[in-house]
Amino acid sequence: MEIGFIGLGSMGGPMSRRLVEAGHKLTVFDTRKEAMEPLLKLGATAARSPADVADRVETVMTSLPSLDIGLKVATGDDGLIRGNRVRRYVDLSTTGSRAAIKTAEILKERNIVQIDCPVSGGVAGAEKGTLAVMVSGPKEEVEPLRSALEVFGKVFYCGDKPGMAQSMKLANNFLSATGMAASCEAIAMGVKAGLDPSLMCDVINAGSGMNTATTQKFPRSVLPGTFDYGFGMALMVKDVRLFLAEAQDYGIPIEVAQAVGKLWEKALAEHGPTSDFTEIAKTVEKGAGIQMRAPKK
Ligand code: NAD
Repeated sequence: MEIGFIGLGSMGGPMSRRLVEAGHKLTVFDTRKEAMEPLLKLGATAARSPADVADRVETVMTSLPSLDIGLKVATGDDGLIRGNRVRRYVDLSTTGSRAAIKTAEILKERNIVQIDCPVSGGVAGAEKGTLAVMVSGPKEEVEPLRSALEVFGKVFYCGDKPGMAQSMKLANNFLSATGMAASCEAIAMGVKAGLDPSLMCDVINAGSGMNTATTQKFPRSVLPGTFDYGFGMALMVKDVRLFLAEAQDYGIPIEVAQAVGKLWEKALAEHGPTSDFTEIAKTVEKGAGIQMRAPKK
């Protein structure tokens, strides 16, 4: 099918490549020219703005780094809302349900249907097509997209109301953020006690403490000290803040989330928004006075 794709970064780059390779006809836009080049080489068409994308295709996907940028790209002066052909807006970004509901209402006035479609599984999952793809929106609008979404990974239909897939995604990312923060503290404790951090991951991964920090993030980016996992610190903190806000909206207990959020805010202050999220390990290392390094296996 003909698809517009806006935001060709760490996730949007490989996801749009997979769409082209699966035979879809893509029109792409990113504010960074260098992000567009690999797609154009594969045969995608370049657009000049989100509005230009939306003038050329009925289905527009976005994968953008912040809520403000997402809102501007969807509803701003040069946003896709100005396009003449667009009928479906598929947002692959993590925005939380509040933002999703707001955008959906604005777009509805122009007869554009919003489909929330946040994904989980990181850059590696985007490259391989093994993401968890969480979708919400009118079923009759989601079904025609299913084959395109399956290019990204396993598709889970989460409900028909705007924002439902976003709530699902926030729950997932809160657990991912918590696993990472808690694993840093657990492994720091062990290293302080004289244990090898690499052995600790092996034991945890054979035991009940296993989580994606010990199976993937530590072995790939913390133990070898590369801190190159591909998910920005600002993005992780955005997701934790969104979870806290949404949990507060619903009045659920957030004692764990508040503690986890505090550590992520500290890591953001220490390492900056463009650092890799795995650098939270350095924050814990600094506090503990140790390093959690081991040669890459
Ligand atoms: P990124 O920063 O790598 O990519 C964002 C892209 O958007 C960049 O190429 C940037 O140039 C482009 N962009 C910025 N402003 C723009 C504008 N006004 N118009 C057009 N393009 C613009 O971010 P990412 O890591 O790919 O994340 C994108 C979304 O996916 C975020 O919501 C993030 O939370 C979510 N996500 C990321 C990961 C991950 O592991 N990186 C995993 C799951 C979900």
